Amino acid sequence: MMKAEELNKGFVNEIIEAGTPVPGEKEVASLKSCYQCGTCTGSCPSGRRTAYRTRKVIRQALLGIDSVLDSDDIWKCTTCYTCYERCPRDVKVTEIIKTIRNLAAKKGNMATPHKMTAVYVLKAGHAVPANDDTAKLRKSIGLAEKAPIAQFSQKDMDEIRTIAKNLKFDELIGFDWKTMGLKQ
Ligand code: SF4
Ligand code: SF4
Repeated sequence: MMKAEELNKGFVNEIIEAGTPVPGEKEVASLKSCYQCGTCTGSCPSGRRTAYRTRKVIRQALLGIDSVLDSDDIWKCTTCYTCYERCPRDVKVTEIIKTIRNLAAKKGNMATPHKMTAVYVLKAGHAVPANDDTAKLRKSIGLAEKAPIAQFSQKDMDEIRTIAKNLKFDELIGFDWKTMGLKQ
């Protein structure tokens, strides 16, 4: 049973507001439509392999249990959108989870594997950079070894890094420009 002091009544609205960048948009407001049927959990590929339960995260958000921001579970969602497609109440589950993650990241709680993905974006312009295998594969089907992507364009990389600095994204993930990795 959850103790009363662990419930943050304003937290539900905080999630809704954080996920509603355009006035009048109700994407994350769908949170309040959840009737806890569990279809999302039953559909979730991550839940099959881990203790992550989508319905539980939505329930915590609905009840204003802000400790969900400290939970490892919110980082186990692969954003596959299966729950989003299958929810009988049209709850925008994946958007809600992403909104909760954004709030958690602002608190300094971003999971390390996600930070590492962001490191690749700052280092190479992509979460999954091209490598030697990519080059070989492209060559084998008659394509240029290097695709016309940000990774191979200094101008694009400069723009990505400028945007990251202006938005303080580098600070958010704890990026070290000297080592081009995470700060130790
Ligand atoms: Fe709530 Fe939709 Fe998940 Fe059912 S499938 S528990 S209504 S979010
Ligand atoms: Fe599970 Fe996330 Fe996919 Fe929903 S979007 S089914 S929570 S992995």
